[in-house]
Amino acid sequence: GSSIGIVGGGQLGRMLAVAAAQLGYKCHIFDPHEDPPAAHVAAGFTRGAYEDAEALAEFATQVDVITYEFENLPVGPLAVLGPKLRPGTRSLAVAQDRAVEKQFIEECGATVAAWRSVDSADDVERAVAELGTPIVLKTRRYGYDGKGQAWIRNPSEAQSAWDSIGHEPAVAEAGVEFDAEFSVIVARWEDGRTTFWDSPDNVHREGILRTSTVPPPPVIAGQVEHARTAAANIASALDHVGVLTVEFFASRNGPIVNEIAPRVHNSGHWTIEGAFTSQFEQHIRAVCGLPPGSTDLACHSARMDNLIGDEIADWQGLLADPHAHVHIYGKGEARPGRKMGHVTRIDVG
Ligand code: ATP
Ligand code: MG
Ligand code: MG
Repeated sequence: GSSIGIVGGGQLGRMLAVAAAQLGYKCHIFDPHEDPPAAHVAAGFTRGAYEDAEALAEFATQVDVITYEFENLPVGPLAVLGPKLRPGTRSLAVAQDRAVEKQFIEECGATVAAWRSVDSADDVERAVAELGTPIVLKTRRYGYDGKGQAWIRNPSEAQSAWDSIGHEPAVAEAGVEFDAEFSVIVARWEDGRTTFWDSPDNVHREGILRTSTVPPPPVIAGQVEHARTAAANIASALDHVGVLTVEFFASRNGPIVNEIAPRVHNSGHWTIEGAFTSQFEQHIRAVCGLPPGSTDLACHSARMDNLIGDEIADWQGLLADPHAHVHIYGKGEARPGRKMGHVTRIDVG
């Protein structure tokens, strides 16, 4: 087929649509908002609610394959799309609930930080007693960019942390003393073939990704092989088709999985200019059953910096560096903490 439906119209959908267009595909976007960034670069746009099974089924009749760029989608309405949906709903269901996700990751033989499911203040007190501090509470659902999280650095903060996440069902997770953070970005084909990019060194501030750099330093590079095995096992257990990202902490005791995203990922944006095939193109290749492209570095090193909130204001100033690859997502208001664009700088030596 030659048309692709993308559920979710944010910057990830936008960059997927650009990559798909280069391969001759027309993308149609499904998103509840009025003017989503992906619609600006797509062949079609349907405004509809993610819960609207009828609208999604109608959308599906217009395209040959459907993918998604956002994991917080209700699974029920998408399940009726059957094999046209790639990746399938299992990847969504696991990734959108942190308790299900952690249990699943452990069943795949990978390590996560010690954790407990918590549904009440008493549960939180018990988790603090059993795991010690520091602990981070994370709502099971709908968290991103560090939202829906509260740290407990001292047992006396248990109640206020529980209050601050709004008494939502959550996980309590031991704070990890990590040397660095990195991600494994894997693309998987229906027949089980997988490709990996270099693992970026990811730096977060206040729960938000700030920079991703490749190649990673030795403290990360030494853990990548182990981490790739974990990521491949997770992708395979999900029957995942397309790109999947696993975030890791590089700890003294080896790689610890933080979370998974069943999709292209912010820490892979550097692949647009820094690798022979970008994560976006590779995802399109995988969901359309095309051959994999090379994931080799196309440079000595690459560094991506997010443009968050106000940082977008001087985007024209960034262009003063003629080698900077500036990406602007075309979002409306530059609210604090909102990802508005990114800049990639590659070193070709
Ligand atoms: P994303 O936008 O990546 O989906 P998120 O809201 O799902 O973010 P997490 O990835 O769970 O949030 O956490 C954000 C960041 O907070 C992590 O990348 C890490 O820097 C820090 N963090 C989260 N959990 C822990 C932990 N258990 N120990 C230490 N640091 C942590
Ligand atoms: Mg997350
Ligand atoms: Mg994360």
